[in-house]
Amino acid sequence: MKIAVLGSGSDGNAVLVNEGRTTILVDAGFSGKTLQDRVNAAGFCISEIQALILTHEHSDHIRGAGVLARRCKIPVFGTEGTFRNGRRKLGDVNGLKCIQGGQSIEINNLNIKPFDISHDAEEPVGFIIENGTSKLGICTDSGCVTQLMRQRLKGCDALILESNHDSTMLLAGSYPWILKQRIRSRIGHLSNDDAGKFCEEMWHSGLQHLFLAHLSKENNMPDMARMTAEDAVRRAGCKNGETRIHVAMQTLISEVITI
Ligand SMILES: [Zn+2]
Ligand SMILES: [Zn+2]
Repeated sequence: MKIAVLGSGSDGNAVLVNEGRTTILVDAGFSGKTLQDRVNAAGFCISEIQALILTHEHSDHIRGAGVLARRCKIPVFGTEGTFRNGRRKLGDVNGLKCIQGGQSIEINNLNIKPFDISHDAEEPVGFIIENGTSKLGICTDSGCVTQLMRQRLKGCDALILESNHDSTMLLAGSYPWILKQRIRSRIGHLSNDDAGKFCEEMWHSGLQHLFLAHLSKENNMPDMARMTAEDAVRRAGCKNGETRIHVAMQTLISEVITI
């Protein structure tokens, strides 16, 4: 399975997943043009995308979904709540397909299992994507670590996990108090420390790649997020190089990795 984070942060999110002749996107939070450019930069063509699956209806995840679905005539998978709240942003799309936490779907040779997460959207989900031999976990936009997250994300070969903010920077920063409270709440975003604790708990020697995602521009620094995660996996027993840690950026695509 090949994986590339096409960009991540509050200005847009998208992940490309490829297995043989199957290529899908998880979220499409960029304009149609940007999506096309970044899919190309990852070595793929937008016409190869066979399906789009959505985590939730916030603009940074859904902005380009309608354009992409209409242009490529592909189905869009999302929860009922995502479609209900995201209808205006999606526009007219044929082929909306409802998914539900806990119920797997198959797209050719990929098995995709959504699971509920804790975020201030109507029915947000994370995903486990498996090809029979490898397992990818995607979990961004989660205000807290839940028991379900622990269960679902166990044993991943690659994990894309939110590491949104440094708590001290957020509290000292310029955001209005109400926004700070929202971000810190159980339906907001995971801090570097939250992500670190989760990684320490979940780390196993089969975790080849860890992507830290959805970093705040204002309240985080890539090095801080990386160091927190590096310390965490080291405490869990990770020796040098066993797990590669990538920091997903807003304006650049990640390396294309294979698991
Ligand atoms: Zn988001
Ligand atoms: Zn969100």
